[in-house]
Amino acid sequence: MEENDGITGQFLDAVEFRGVSRRDFLKYCGATAALLGLSELYVPKIAAAIEKASKRPPVVWLNFASDSGCTEALIKATYPGPADLVLDVLSIDYNETIMAAAGKQVDEILANSRKEGGYILVVEGGIPTKKGHGMIGGKEMLDVLKENAGPAVAILAVGSCATSGGVPAASPNPSQIIGVNEALKKLGISKSVVNLDLCPVNVEYLTAVIVNYLLLGKLPELDSYGRPLMFYSQTIHDNCERRAHFDAGRFVETFGSKEESLGYCLYKMGCKGPMTYSACPKVKYNSRISWCIGAGGPCIGCAEPGWTDKFAGFYNRLPGVKIPGLGGVEATADKIGAAAAVVTAAGIAVHAIGSAASGRIGGKDGGEK
Ligand code: SF4
Ligand code: SF4
Repeated sequence: MEENDGITGQFLDAVEFRGVSRRDFLKYCGATAALLGLSELYVPKIAAAIEKASKRPPVVWLNFASDSGCTEALIKATYPGPADLVLDVLSIDYNETIMAAAGKQVDEILANSRKEGGYILVVEGGIPTKKGHGMIGGKEMLDVLKENAGPAVAILAVGSCATSGGVPAASPNPSQIIGVNEALKKLGISKSVVNLDLCPVNVEYLTAVIVNYLLLGKLPELDSYGRPLMFYSQTIHDNCERRAHFDAGRFVETFGSKEESLGYCLYKMGCKGPMTYSACPKVKYNSRISWCIGAGGPCIGCAEPGWTDKFAGFYNRLPGVKIPGLGGVEATADKIGAAAAVVTAAGIAVHAIGSAASGRIGGKDGGEK
């Protein structure tokens, strides 16, 4: 890459100094361009946008009710990797889980960020709304969100806890935990929130949304749940590496079996892939090394709003759903597998399972969302 591409050799030197090779950094920019649906011509532009951002805007990362798994996902992603680097150069001014400072000192850092404004606010964790159930430095978490949402230029809710409550909001939800979007509405704050559902967040989704903002000055197109369409427009099932087994009716019946060792479909083991929208099979985790189904576990549907209650009983088989493409028969895994042998358009039909089940087709309004 030449200096007149927009990125300086000085910055690439700094990248190497942080332990990430130029090659890996540019590879990351290429992968991000692909995620954003941009051609390779955008690679230098993405690199330049990241360099420019090294001077600002900063990121303020607030932690509320969660196990800090999203922060863990961030710091454990083959550190130091390009994705960490992006957040690093963006200057995470405040993240109380990983910052060295504490007490009054961090309050001052946060107050300064608010004074300067213009930061990207990343929120991890759900918001307890029952008084006294979620406090930071003597303040209700709801009030901490209110204080810091105002000066933000963009708000990203990362992980299922932040989007709709996730694990801490599971029934009976004694702390009355809600997601960021709902909390902002309750506070009367009108700001759009990008929801990155998953447990934990995929760091590549997060950095791609930030790069999109840096490059194009806007947030990506969102679905009706506030999730970027570029990551949440297809089901896990649409792109699953075990899909051929599903279509052929080859299922794992018990763990530890020969079928499991042959990598058969996990539908009968409770896989929620047909109902879950996310690009996990393509983007994967840990620098694209593996992901849930690749590692042998059924998808538990953590990318869907309303998780965990929505899919409680993670190893329970999905209840039967109508398959419009197969004449409205009740779909059990057996019927789908058998029907696939005679219905060549099974791919379309099965896609409809996810759509119907998640309310995208034949929902309350009867239309496609
Ligand atoms: S049911 Fe699950 S394991 Fe089977 S093909 Fe679909 S997503 Fe993959
Ligand atoms: S494959 Fe399923 S359970 Fe795994 S991260 Fe993706 S949505 Fe969540």
